Amino acid sequence: MLNAAIRGLLSRAQEHALEYMDGIAERPVFPDADALAGLSAFDEALPAQGRDALATLELLHRQGSPATTAQTGPRYFGFVNGGLDPTALAARWLADAWDQNSALWMMSPTAAKLEAVTERWLVELLGLPRETVAGFVSGTAVSLVCGIAAARNALLSRAGWDVARQGLFEAPPLRVVTGAQAHATVARALSLLGLGSDRIERVPCDAQGRLRLDALPELDAHTLVLAAAGNVNSGAFDPLRGLCERAHAAGAWVHVDGAFGLWAAAAPARAHLCDGIELADSWSGDAHKTLNAPYDGGLILCRDGAALEAALHMDGAYIAWSEEGARDGMRYTPEMSRRARAVEIWALLRSRGSEGVAALIEGMCQHAAQFAGELEAAGFSLCNEVVFNQVLVACADDALTEATLAGVQASGECWCGASSWHGRRVIRISVCSGATTAADVSRSVAAFVRARDAACAAAPPPR
Ligand SMILES: *Cc1c(COP(=O)(O)O)cnc(C)c1O
Repeated sequence: MLNAAIRGLLSRAQEHALEYMDGIAERPVFPDADALAGLSAFDEALPAQGRDALATLELLHRQGSPATTAQTGPRYFGFVNGGLDPTALAARWLADAWDQNSALWMMSPTAAKLEAVTERWLVELLGLPRETVAGFVSGTAVSLVCGIAAARNALLSRAGWDVARQGLFEAPPLRVVTGAQAHATVARALSLLGLGSDRIERVPCDAQGRLRLDALPELDAHTLVLAAAGNVNSGAFDPLRGLCERAHAAGAWVHVDGAFGLWAAAAPARAHLCDGIELADSWSGDAHKTLNAPYDGGLILCRDGAALEAALHMDGAYIAWSEEGARDGMRYTPEMSRRARAVEIWALLRSRGSEGVAALIEGMCQHAAQFAGELEAAGFSLCNEVVFNQVLVACADDALTEATLAGVQASGECWCGASSWHGRRVIRISVCSGATTAADVSRSVAAFVRARDAACAAAPPPR
């Protein structure tokens, strides 16, 4: 029997969580000054004697909850962070109680089974080649390391070089080709893997940030091409079909960074954006972004499962690999111990179905289009073609754009971040939560207008 104190503690945690979720739509989207000041309650010395468990949980909720950002609410548009699917959250709660280590089948047959099923469903949902394998990692930053390691080792192995044994010193050189606007985590993954950011051949992009095929250098069998499905600012997609065809004709490897854009492949009305994505060799995606699974849930998908496994391989006398047919998750990730991340992704896919996922993604795209239309009508300049979930807007000059954004952020009505685009400061809106409604978009636009009008009144434009 579960001890009454533990039962009480866990029930209280659930009550706090439900209270938090209940108020999420109406609280300030970014914590206000009082909430931030309340964080000083955590500045305690490490107690020598343990403190009461319920009081500890109480402190966490009273002081911690208000100083979170309302990322699970309907008007958080920052950083493509993504909302939270309730079924996935419920599954996560149960799986947290299991506290499984999903490294090996032997450590958690349930986690291994759900990884296998989720892998199969994801491959079908995204229209990827049947043989594609999936590793469940923390996010795209790590997934890129996995995909690039698989590519690097496979390309060098074809050149007669075994990176796992021989390392990189004196290896034949590899080339790396990306669009000029590849995400910063791509350069970091390359440098971690000994490929160095100076080696990157950055291909000029068009006005939307898409790699220009007409500017693509000659490729060869020693080239790793990193393509983007979803430009981090504009949401635009590299021309994946043309890129994959050119790359494969030359024997190059294509890895697609689809952190948030990968899910376009699951939405029939947006699938044209990632036309040809199935031709790539490997893919990165985040379940915690536009799919709205809980943090953290990254995916490495690789057509050549043996290449991914070879790149991430380790062994140990005490490691008992499973028989054929059972899955050991650590074969496909750089981690060993790892929570059972597939559980919540499985629950999300099962409860929404492929049609529900398509509706989720399409809804975000339509709300982004609504945002763009209403902001333009209110006099903001729209700076990108809104093809997916990303909207970039600006005011008459950089100072006004920044003052407007500061006003929007301080309003607590909604939250978005800043970026630069074609030499201009812009407000970057990422619609990435299934909780957002058309009314939330209009309410946010009203906050933009108030913030801009206040900024104009405070600093009238020079005559
Ligand atoms: C978010 C993002 C990343 C990094 O992913 P994490 O999940 O934060 O590790 C990489 N590329 C793109 C395009 C992204 O949007």
